[in-house]
Amino acid sequence: MNQFELNTMNSNETDQFAAKLAGFLRPGDVISLEGDLGAGKTTFTKGLARGLGIKKIVNSPTFTIIKEYHGRMPLYHMDVYRVADSGEDLGFDEYFDGDGVTVVEWAHLIETQLPVNRLTIYLYQEGHENRKIVFEPQGERYEQLCKEIFS
Ligand code: ADP
Ligand code: MG
Repeated sequence: MNQFELNTMNSNETDQFAAKLAGFLRPGDVISLEGDLGAGKTTFTKGLARGLGIKKIVNSPTFTIIKEYHGRMPLYHMDVYRVADSGEDLGFDEYFDGDGVTVVEWAHLIETQLPVNRLTIYLYQEGHENRKIVFEPQGERYEQLCKEIFS
């Protein structure tokens, strides 16, 4: 599997890169965000939202699971930290197959609910403001996407 890597020196750089990524996204795209608390998953999502032309302030949907925003296309922002994956269908497909981009923080917690083809992004806290960001595309669409962004 191809991996792509990037280091950011502060939250602004993470935001900038996410906003750039947003320019390459299209309806039906699914992004998983993985990383410890404070790694920068929500920060990354804010940048994505900005890049999608969303003006509303994006904050963590930890207590609501899903928040919807409207920009150039809809953004479905999920934080599934408190969701238990029993294997039972939780009805997320309407978002994944929908007319917008879905971003899932802590996605591995609902592994069985997720489409196999997606872009997984791992954020690692390397220092106070240093983050290693690793992109792991699954499927042709996301391989291509990563090649374009990192070229
Ligand atoms: P998570 O959603 O993964 O729990 P948040 O995005 O809510 O993380 O929090 C990340 C925190 O780390 C924010 O306060 C952000 O300003 C800070 N931060 C510092 N450096 C970076 C960086 N390079 N990238 C992303 N966030 C950073
Ligand atoms: Mg978060």
